[in-house]
Amino acid sequence: MIKGLYVHIPFCRSICGYCDFAKCRYEKVLADRYLYHLKKEIDEIPQDSFLSIYIGGGTPTALSAEQLEELLQMLSRFKVEKEYTIEINPETFDLEKAQLLEKYGVNRASIGIQSFNEQLLAHMGRTHHNIDVHNTFRALDKVGIDNRSIDLMYGFHNQTLAELLADLEKAVRMNITHISIYDLEVYPQTPFGIAGYQPVDDETDFLMYQTIIDFLNSHSFYQYEVSNFALTTHQSVHNMLYWRYEDYLGVGLGASGKVKNMRYDNTRNFMDYIHDKYRKTEYHLTMKDQRFEAVMMNLRLLQGINIREYDYRFETGLLALYHDAIEKNINKKLLEIVDGYLRVTAKGLFVLNDILVDFMDQ
Ligand code: SF4
Repeated sequence: MIKGLYVHIPFCRSICGYCDFAKCRYEKVLADRYLYHLKKEIDEIPQDSFLSIYIGGGTPTALSAEQLEELLQMLSRFKVEKEYTIEINPETFDLEKAQLLEKYGVNRASIGIQSFNEQLLAHMGRTHHNIDVHNTFRALDKVGIDNRSIDLMYGFHNQTLAELLADLEKAVRMNITHISIYDLEVYPQTPFGIAGYQPVDDETDFLMYQTIIDFLNSHSFYQYEVSNFALTTHQSVHNMLYWRYEDYLGVGLGASGKVKNMRYDNTRNFMDYIHDKYRKTEYHLTMKDQRFEAVMMNLRLLQGINIREYDYRFETGLLALYHDAIEKNINKKLLEIVDGYLRVTAKGLFVLNDILVDFMDQ
């Protein structure tokens, strides 16, 4: 059984300056058409239960209440064994939508806050306010969805370390179980990229990341992945599937999936999608690809790679296969082997991409 299903809803009420996701402005008529074709893609799924379903975007809550119910209804043919998550933008959420989530068994909310600093939110191009966050939490309280993650961001050139700390202090006082915090990346085709936006310099960025790790770990939000922190036992079930390199399906505009030795990407072209030309590429993963991709994903977890499991799964010996890359980075104190796991050190966490280049070259 494939354990994870990702469902992409590409609509947003406004477009953020940094955003590189497959998305477009919400229009009711477009959303109606999209849902019609999404259902066709969902109906082709040849299994009826998942460990985890994750509805992301875009902004799933940009849909009207009727459309949200239509979406939840089409997914209701699947039994969800553990985690059923939806991404929420505070500006498009209310009690009526919260009640729908509860009615259809959604048990986890991932709320896009990004910052509590309203000037910084405006700088990002986001249009929600802190009062919307407050109201979102009240609505979730009323329906009893208390497994909540929030997204925060850092690395904006007008964001100070003190402002970042103020965001973290507010975050840990909220009724949440999980925090994802992302470093700003500027992609060329985004509004920021087109405007030549410069994020903070590398030194400040490093300092910000170190501050986040120290602060959250000392406030019971334990880092378990490069950008993710959770109260004990509240790691994201869905994202762990990706990082453990398990199989998953993705449906909707721009979604991706991996099934055994095949990876696919859906089209990001809206017109193609609503003409049922979902699939853009399918890529056959060689054994070499799979071995490397598993390393790449597993090393994002602080726990690292279970060497025995890896060897069994890929019919190889990890330590011999990547001998030079491992030895080089152990000598540089960027990797270590502890209790049968190969993992990044605290120092290695800051240069994971450089470490992976050594693995790729082998
Ligand atoms: S960051 Fe989220 S809310 Fe903003 S444009 Fe992208 S998908 Fe939409």
